[in-house]
Amino acid sequence: MSLMVRSPVETERFRAWGPHQLDEIAARYGIPPDLQESIRLVSRVLPFRVNEYVLSHLIDWSDVPDDPMFQLVFPQLEMLREQDRRSLVRLTGTDTRRSDARAAVRRIRERLNPHPSGQREYNVPSLDGERLSGLQHKYRETVLYFPGHGQTCHAYCTYCFRWAQFVGEPGLRFAARGPTGLIAYLHRHPEVSDVLVTGGDPMVMSTERLRSHLEPLLDVETVRTIRIGTKAVAYWPQRFVTDRDADDLLRFMERMTATGRQVAVMAHFSHPRELGTGTARRALARILSTGAVVYCQAPLIAHVNDRAATWNELWRTELAAGAVPYYMFVERDTGPHGYFRVPLARAVSVFQDAYRLLPGLARTVRGPVMSATPGKVVVDGVESAPDGKFFRLRMLQARDPSLVGRPFRAPYSPTASWLTELGADPSTPADIAAAVHGAAGAAPSRAGSAGQWREEHR
Ligand SMILES: *Cc1c(COP(=O)(O)O)cnc(C)c1O
Ligand code: SF4
Repeated sequence: MSLMVRSPVETERFRAWGPHQLDEIAARYGIPPDLQESIRLVSRVLPFRVNEYVLSHLIDWSDVPDDPMFQLVFPQLEMLREQDRRSLVRLTGTDTRRSDARAAVRRIRERLNPHPSGQREYNVPSLDGERLSGLQHKYRETVLYFPGHGQTCHAYCTYCFRWAQFVGEPGLRFAARGPTGLIAYLHRHPEVSDVLVTGGDPMVMSTERLRSHLEPLLDVETVRTIRIGTKAVAYWPQRFVTDRDADDLLRFMERMTATGRQVAVMAHFSHPRELGTGTARRALARILSTGAVVYCQAPLIAHVNDRAATWNELWRTELAAGAVPYYMFVERDTGPHGYFRVPLARAVSVFQDAYRLLPGLARTVRGPVMSATPGKVVVDGVESAPDGKFFRLRMLQARDPSLVGRPFRAPYSPTASWLTELGADPSTPADIAAAVHGAAGAAPSRAGSAGQWREEHR
């Protein structure tokens, strides 16, 4: 019995399903018992969360377990090492103490590099000597804002680099309880024109809550662009269409654009299927009707979207929906990275094969991009020179603006999947080498004439 009055169109209420509902999900969608068992096992270590929309509109159950949407949200057995799986099976025995089981799970998580690049700990600005938690300021013009109430998502991507915070590891404490610190910081830093609101997913917040975090930004004249990072169009498009406060959300977005600011929804789409439902298309159309712009980005992930045809279709579909293809990312080394990793050499060919056959207007996309400690580095291609084979790289974003746009190169490797795995090119300009080797001032560590590209925190 509910006292709430619901509008007749609101047929679906958001409800998250986790490991505790696995039996129910399995019964409804017909997951075979062995697959159920492996999901249950792996979800003791890695986060698992889905919802009705993802289950019934995105996953193709006739193609499970290979289906890319199933791979996107359901933990897979091969995500854990054989010996970790075996110890988890042993722990499931009835005579294991719960504290022992928890400790074992924690040890397995520790081996999965739960805090890549120290995301939240680095670039946290301060004001009058006090650290402002929930903020990150790395590039001159852009501040990242993590509202405390938006640190979860409508479903979890198995490849998420923030997975550790979803299983209760420290992380949430870096989020901001409210915008007071952000606003004070922005008044003191007029060079910041962009605020990027991120999470988790800020769109898990009610409109009222979201407004309480964002409305004060409208009084800061120097803020010209408000970006909102979200996967809600893919995972819960009802947020923009039929949720109780969907209309309020759109009205608030309209108000933001009416102030002359650019409101950009940075939409995370991993696969063209996510744009294929009527609700997703309506969500995009409604967002665009507010005057907001939609930019699209996603990482390249084995088992999910590691084919050129998938990306070509994804970018075309985004363009057709009025959105702008923006970044193809390289996945970071965290969580079940061994399962998802795509070598840079392959990433370049997937990107180029997909890009070559795009209409010009979709060629706004850039990639494959590594969001690394010194900045965003794009792999422009592979070059065969008289002195060997190289990756052509370029900084798209850097702490030091003078490095942006500068091309450099690193020796080719068929297996490397991150900047840190590339041997350094001795001909790299010193400032780029220094930036890549360690922005915190660490000296490049040299191993022979071609040093190893290191990031300072590893
Ligand atoms: C990617 C990113 C930005 C935004 O960069 P753009 O190239 O302007 O999209 C800002 N801050 C951090 C830390 C980032 O990783
Ligand atoms: S939507 Fe983004 S933050 Fe949420 S689980 Fe997926 S990758 Fe992680």
